[in-house]
Parts: sequence; structure tokens; C-alpha cells
Amino acid sequence: MIRGDFLSLNESKKKKRASKVDKVIKKLSDTLDGGRLSTQRADLLSYSHDYWPIYLHWMLEDRYPSVPDAVVWPESIEDVRDIVRWCYRGKVPIYPYGGGSGVLGGAVPEKGGIVVDLKRMRSLKLHKKDLLVEAESGLNGYYLEDYLNERGYTMGNIPQSLYPSTVGGWVGTKALGQFSTKYGGIEDMLKGIEVVVPPGKLIELKPHPRTATGPDLRKFFVGSEGTMGIITKGWFKIWPEPEKRIKLSYASNSLKDAVESIRRIMRRGAEPAVIRIYDEIETKRHFYEYDDIYGKVATVMIIEGDETLADAESKIVREEFVGKEKGEKPVDHWLETRFSIKEASEFVPMGVVFDTIEVAVGWSGAAKLYENVVGALKPIKGVLFASAHASHFYPQGICFYFTFAGTPPRKKDAEGFYQQAWEEAMKAVINSGGTVSHHHGVGRQRRRWMSEELEEGYELLKKIKQKVDKRGIMNPGDMGL
Ligand SMILES: Cc1cc2nc3c(=O)[nH]c(=O)nc-3n(C[C@H](O)[C@H](O)[C@H](O)COP(=O)(O)OP(=O)(O)OC[C@H]3O[C@@H](n4cnc5c(N)ncnc54)[C@H](O)[C@@H]3O)c2cc1C
Repeated sequence: MIRGDFLSLNESKKKKRASKVDKVIKKLSDTLDGGRLSTQRADLLSYSHDYWPIYLHWMLEDRYPSVPDAVVWPESIEDVRDIVRWCYRGKVPIYPYGGGSGVLGGAVPEKGGIVVDLKRMRSLKLHKKDLLVEAESGLNGYYLEDYLNERGYTMGNIPQSLYPSTVGGWVGTKALGQFSTKYGGIEDMLKGIEVVVPPGKLIELKPHPRTATGPDLRKFFVGSEGTMGIITKGWFKIWPEPEKRIKLSYASNSLKDAVESIRRIMRRGAEPAVIRIYDEIETKRHFYEYDDIYGKVATVMIIEGDETLADAESKIVREEFVGKEKGEKPVDHWLETRFSIKEASEFVPMGVVFDTIEVAVGWSGAAKLYENVVGALKPIKGVLFASAHASHFYPQGICFYFTFAGTPPRKKDAEGFYQQAWEEAMKAVINSGGTVSHHHGVGRQRRRWMSEELEEGYELLKKIKQKVDKRGIMNPGDMGL
């Protein structure tokens, strides 16, 4: 078995650990028969990583610094409880795993142990009158939305990773989709939750339209990244499918014009479902076929819902937007290409290091943050480009989604280059008054900025973690916990 950089135990400790883990695996294989457990090398390697871009470089160098000891596929709550019970007794780490599309190493089994793939737990139930869907956590995102659409509903959560991600992963990472400005993030949709916490207890928090029974424990698990328990089910808000969809696009002379336009639109209470503003570099990259947009700042928008409301929102947009209206075609182009994720398979084998960094900031700091982050990334030796689009909006502010790509200069490895870019970008975000994560979460890549951003709040989070997970078995190391 490959054991790597993350595990720096001495030989005697390794032996002790192996015998402890073997005992737990033996117990689990007695309980989880019928192909619900594997220690096959192919499975262990497949589950040694998620979509953390730097891991792709490690794999190309034949480095697998984190390999689990076993992978399990529970099919029921009882299975999940058994897994947590046995791992708790043996003090063996557990890593909940959905689609493995997380981009920050959140599902990486850093200290070995058991990866728990939830994908066999995928039942769902529609509650039409209450406008809720009840979904087990392993349910695939695309399958859920397709099921709802066929019945005349939508959940409105359409991340770019709709096809490879799961409901549990959405809640685990506090995800949100491309239509978030109208439908919100997963935290707005989640109304009830079921979680198995150490030492194997099931917590059921039923859905209510609203409840004031103390602090909201449902939200406590949103964004917990598997560090507090295994989410087995959620109840989510749904909407009737939109009656009308209006597609608008604009070409503006500057990013500032477009961003300011959206600020005014949001202030007036209009909520277009999709709003995406691309800086000049990204406009060139995404809209090179459109001569009258190329070289400008492109904005695409989708307004949808009840016809009367959609018409009123589009009137507000047209009154406020500074730029030339460019019709539906650029929006159709965005709709057709929005799930394309070929960059990783194209660029990484060529030695190009790239990543995306999504952050948020209030309107008053928006222009400064954009300039500072791009300005911090561009001078790094080897950077080919640094650009951004803004993809999620609130009456209070904006999410910028930065992309950088480059080739490490001679004598610098991919990881050194990658970490330098992150370091400079995070510093610029913090100095500009932004939050270091808007929707990808923390994982292992962002953990070193947790205390800087949360300060005493991080100390509280660590104390809560110690109480909930006394033996530290739940996704140890994630978020620095
Ligand atoms: C090309 C691409 C596009 C993306 N686009 C978006 C986007 O538009 N919006 C967005 O928000 N994100 C996006 N992401 C990031 C990623 O898809 C999301 O973070 C997604 O929510 C992860 O879901 P998953 O099922 O793949 O989770 P995984 O990657 O398997 O796990 C993510 C984290 O959640 C934990 N977890 C998973 N399941 C459970 C569970 N049942 N209980 C407890 N913890 C659990 C894991 O331990 C891990 O810490 C994108 C990623 C890629 C690769």
C-alpha cells in the first residue's frame, strides 16, 4: 500500500496503527457484506483524492500522498451508524465522500482510514404541497434536478459540477449554483437534516418553514465538510418551474460600469437568477466569437419565474444597466458551454498549473479587491494570466471568481508555484476586506487561513469539534480541525 507525505509515523507506530485499522476493517467487513467494503488497490487509489488541482500534478508524478485503508459503501442509516461506531471504538479516521468533485482536498484521506462513499444512499421523495424534496445525501445532483424538472419543479441549485456532485457534498461544502442570485445557496434551501455523529448517534432535525428552537443546528452542519458527522439526508426547498425566462446580455466599457449596474439593480430588489460579469480577459476567452463584445466587458443574465415578476425585473435591469444590450445569443452560448470542464485534462498534462479562487466582498470594497487580487497574481514569475468573473450577487455585495494559470519557472516545482499564487491571492483578499471563501469551502488547501479570518471564532469551532468528535475521527485535518 502506498503511504505518503501526509503520514510521517515511525515504524513501530505504523505497526500499531496497522493492527488497529485491520481490526476495524475486519469488523466492518463482517457487517458490510455483499460488496459494501473494498481494500482493493484500484479502489484505494481511486478514492485517494478529489478534484483538488494540485493533486492532479502529484498523480502525474506518480505520487499518492494519501491512500485510505478501505472504502465502504453504506446502503442504510444502520450501515452508517455501524461504520461510525466501529471507527470510533478503534479511533480510525473516517472521510465522507460524495462525488469527489471538491476542489480543495476536503475528501482527501490525509491520515489513512476509511472513506465512506455515500452514493448508494440516494432515495428521494417529493412533497408537492410543502414545496420540499427529501433526498438522501448520496443522490447525484443532476439526477435530483432532472427528477424535479420532469415533475414541474426545480431546486434551482445548478453548480457547474451538477453532474459529478452529490446532495451531501453540497451541504458539506456549503455549495451554490449558477442560478443562486434568485434561488440562494444550499444553506437557504436546506430545511431539515439527518446526520450521524460520533459515537454513532443519529440526529434528526425535521423540516419546518422556520423554527426558533435555539441556535439553528441545521445550519451548523452546512459547510462542516465531514468534520462533525456524516449527513445522511436533507429536506430542501423547491420551486415550481419558471413560467417565463428572459435572457439578456450586455457589453460594457468597463468592469466598474457593469458591477455598479448590478449593485443598483439588487438595491431595487430585482433578483435575476443568473448574473455573470466577465472582465476583459475572460470576455475574450469566453465570447471570442462575438465581435461586438470582444474587447469589452460581457454580462449575461437570466431572469426567470412568474411572468409578471420576470417582466418587472427585466424593466428594472434595462433601466439601470450601463452598457449596450446584445440580445440572447451570448446567453445561449453560455447555457451551451456552462458545464464544460475540460481545462484540467487539457492543461495539467502540459505542465500548466491552474486553479480558481472564489471570494466575496461588500460592494464598497469590490473594485479594490478585484484590482488587488489580479495585481497580486500577475507579477508572480511564470503566471500566464490572472482574470476573474463575478458570478453571485447579494444586496450587500458580490462574489469574484478568479482564475490563474502559469508554468512554474525553472527550479520551482508545480506545488511551490501553486502555493505562492494562493498565498499572494489570499493576502490580497484579506487586506481588501474580503472573505477567503465564498462557496468552495476550506478543505486542506485553505485551512491555513481559517484562524486569520475567524480569529476567536476559530477557537470556538475547535472547541465544538472536540466535544462533538472527542476522538478526532471525522475527516481529521480538514479545515485544520
Ligand atoms: C468543474 C467544477 C465545477 C464546480 N462548480 C461549482 C459550483 O458551481 N458551485 C459550487 O459550490 N461548487 C462547485 N464546485 C466544487 C464542488 O463540486 C462542490 O464543492 C460540491 O459541493 C462537492 O460535492 P461532492 O458530492 O463532489 O463532494 P465531495 O468532493 O465528495 O466532498 C466535499 C466535502 O464534503 C464532505 N462530504 C461529502 N459528502 C458528505 C456527507 N454525506 N456528509 C458529510 N460530509 C460530506 C467531504 O468529506 C468533503 O469534505 C465545482 C467543482 C468542479 C470540479
